[in-house]
Amino acid sequence: MPQHSSRIALITGAASGIGRSVAERLALQDGAMVCIVDREADAAREAAHSIEAAGGRAQTFVADLADSAAVQRMLNRIDAEIGMPDIVINNAGIAATIPVLDYPLSHWQLTMAVNVTAPMLIIQHVLRGMKARGWGRVVNVASISGVRAGTGRLGYGTSKAALLALTRQFAVEAAEWGVTVNAVAPGPIETPMVKQMHGGSSTDIYRDMMPMRRYGAVADIAHAIAFLASENSGFITGETLAVDGGFLAS
Ligand code: NAD
Repeated sequence: MPQHSSRIALITGAASGIGRSVAERLALQDGAMVCIVDREADAAREAAHSIEAAGGRAQTFVADLADSAAVQRMLNRIDAEIGMPDIVINNAGIAATIPVLDYPLSHWQLTMAVNVTAPMLIIQHVLRGMKARGWGRVVNVASISGVRAGTGRLGYGTSKAALLALTRQFAVEAAEWGVTVNAVAPGPIETPMVKQMHGGSSTDIYRDMMPMRRYGAVADIAHAIAFLASENSGFITGETLAVDGGFLAS
């Protein structure tokens, strides 16, 4: 029997890229009921339909995570229509390449709202149910940019560093409730986001900096997240797992 056959998994940003790959993995290999949260309604529905067509269980919840009231409405709907999540993957994120002197306050605030505040609100909400049941898994999708600075990454890198600190803060308080809170820090992965950030010739420059001389695939991240969401990772919490082809080690 798949290990998560009675588990409910909430995955943000699951209409595209890494999040969609994680949703497919948890639904189709591990047997979880997946809640696909995204602001892109059509792409989210398409992701859910393709999981159902392959024999998995999925439902779509459309929400703009920049809006804290919309986050709360989405969480209440999932509790009422599906049940309280056992697994949460905070994957949705936004990025931009903007020099420090040009960085607008409006983009800073939007980046913090989506990349930091939404995960905080979601974890705080689901922790109550996880604590009551004595089991839970939270995985936050950060970035190597949260560990190592890069040109143009003022808002993005700061938000991902905050997400790593938030991971450790929740982890220490949730540890005695049977709940683990961990992060993955992907290196460059072939998704729509990375095409937008690393377009043109910079793609090749970045690849040359990679010890493995390649970008990662979405499945590379999904495998790592599935492990941190599994029964087998129960003694790991507050950890950041770099999945970056050796980039941070170099
Ligand atoms: P992606 O652009 O393919 O997917 C991101 C998804 O998040 C999209 O479906 C988008 O609609 C959704 N989203 C964005 N803002 C939202 C909002 N306000 N409300 C609801 N949904 C929203 O990106 P990806 O590359 O799969 O990135 C997923 C995560 O991985 C992000 O947190 C990103 O920072 C992180 N990451 C990606 C890379 C990479 O190279 N692709 C590297 C390191 C970290």
